[in-house]
Amino acid sequence: MIHPGVGNPQIQEIAPGVFGFIRLIHFFHKIGVNAGIIQTPESVIFIDSGMSAHSGEFLFNFARERMKGTEDLYLILTHKDTDHCFGMNEMKKHGATVIAHEHAAEVIVEESDLSKNRIAKMIRKEFPEDVLGNTVLSRPDQTIVRDTVLNLGDEIHILAIPGHTPGDIAVYHPKSKVLFAGDAILEGMDPYVRPDSISIKTWIRNLERLKELDIEWVLPGHGALSRRDIIDSNIQYLMREQH
Ligand SMILES: [Zn+2]
Repeated sequence: MIHPGVGNPQIQEIAPGVFGFIRLIHFFHKIGVNAGIIQTPESVIFIDSGMSAHSGEFLFNFARERMKGTEDLYLILTHKDTDHCFGMNEMKKHGATVIAHEHAAEVIVEESDLSKNRIAKMIRKEFPEDVLGNTVLSRPDQTIVRDTVLNLGDEIHILAIPGHTPGDIAVYHPKSKVLFAGDAILEGMDPYVRPDSISIKTWIRNLERLKELDIEWVLPGHGALSRRDIIDSNIQYLMREQH
């Protein structure tokens, strides 16, 4: 049985060994939060870890059932928001190397207590029990400031795309043509421009850059698995916001 702290995610095998988890538990119950897994011959790469320790554990167990046991583990955090990071300890305790943008790494730990209280309060409105679990955050092991290509069995492109936050990254897997966009791209709702977002102009420029990639599928930070035209609809919204 799935723990209530995981929610009721839809699991999609987007391409062989490439999974999207859609609508993991979230304080915006109807929206949920997404995460992904890429399995290569040498590695398992988690993209985000959900909003609860239970989500992190669920993602890890899902991968473990499909692993040989010799893989290196990585967790790439698309940005610093705790609804994407709170499951991280589950991957860390199994030895995952955590990678984030330098700007995200600086704030992930210091914001966590504040954010945990706020999220706990919000989530109590929707869920009667403590569904977050032990959400310990730690500083990422590796940080990036510009686009970085890693060979982890398959090529994994980590793209620095500041926008929604100064430390946004997207993960692109050329072999499957899948882009994991984090909250730089949302589906079913407008892009979330906040006080700590960087200039909309830069955000748009970074989304334009993504369009140069050969993309078949986009998994946004929230909302349904999408086709590449979701990039344009997010750009169009941001352009209207700008004026
Ligand atoms: Zn989010």
